[in-house]
Amino acid sequence: MAVVEVTAALAGVVDELVQADPLRLADGETLQALHRQLERLAAVTTRAVAAFDAGRAWEADGARTASAWVSSHCHVPLAAARRRSQLGRGLRHMPVAETAWLAGDIGEAQVGVLAGARNPATEACFERDEPMLVGLATELRHHRFVRALAYWCQLADPDGTERSAEAQHAARCVRLSQTFGGCWALDGLLGPVEGSIVATVLTKIEDELFETDWAEAKARVGEGVRPGDLSRTQVQRRADALVEMARRAAAMPAGSRLPEPLFTVLVGYETFAGRICELADGTVVAPGALVPWLDRAWAERVVFDGPARVTDVGARRRIFAGATRRGIEVRDRGCFHPLCETPAPGCEIDHIVPWSAGGLTTMENGRVACGFHNRERHRTRPPPGAP
Ligand SMILES: [Zn+2]
Repeated sequence: MAVVEVTAALAGVVDELVQADPLRLADGETLQALHRQLERLAAVTTRAVAAFDAGRAWEADGARTASAWVSSHCHVPLAAARRRSQLGRGLRHMPVAETAWLAGDIGEAQVGVLAGARNPATEACFERDEPMLVGLATELRHHRFVRALAYWCQLADPDGTERSAEAQHAARCVRLSQTFGGCWALDGLLGPVEGSIVATVLTKIEDELFETDWAEAKARVGEGVRPGDLSRTQVQRRADALVEMARRAAAMPAGSRLPEPLFTVLVGYETFAGRICELADGTVVAPGALVPWLDRAWAERVVFDGPARVTDVGARRRIFAGATRRGIEVRDRGCFHPLCETPAPGCEIDHIVPWSAGGLTTMENGRVACGFHNRERHRTRPPPGAP
């Protein structure tokens, strides 16, 4: 079949889907099948763009680059066209990823991250490890895959990892300037550790203000209070939280002891649990990024004896607190639900065997659960994979 006929046939099949009632397509199996075909088409298109780029047929139209031609004729932003072109070139060095993408086993997002991990310093390791990395991309949820790949980069190119951490650190900036009308404009960029410190404190104050706003709205409108009833929007609350942070900083007497921990970093024994060097929210950081903090930060040490560690700390208590709570937070790092990505700092600690059924308040019987999944368990049928 000629290519024209193939694309016409494809259009015909898509036409059928277009005419189908969306409700008929709205089941899990069909959604997965549609996503798979969407990715396969994206892979074919990307390969075609790279070949078009190399063939230079675009020159005849007076275009300066293939991306400019694609941007103009296919109505996509120039940056998106460039990105596809780059990805297509990258595919030439990633045969395993290319095959997996064409099969729909992985998607453009994973291929993009893989391409970003391959550079002159890592290309030899990449060639060796590509099947393993593509395997991870196929099996893991996207954010876990990104984390695993970040560790791979640290091992494949330790110097490069430290250099990019240094570059990130060097790029830190905050701009605070007064506008013509007398307001203040604020923006900037912080490194992973520094940003995590600021975000944690700011979020804590925001949460306090939210509680106040919620109580005030409840007093005003009664039990059926909704987010729309709150007196401030989320961004207004964050602005107020920042001012409150400054107010508290000014109120703190000189020489006060800093609260602990300022940030949590998980560092593992490579032989025990594989390489671990990440913040509590799952952001992988270069070991060197921690060095400036070693003499200033309060370090928190959590030691795990092994998966079967038995502890009865707080077994008679109903609420997870202190070391037991912290141990579970650091061990699980996020909500237990397989479809949830809420990191531990925004979660509660839940009994696996409920307290009412005799479950103990121990590390073994505790797990991190976001508010939604903690409540859901007590309300309806258990989610898939939950005990
Ligand atoms: Zn959850």
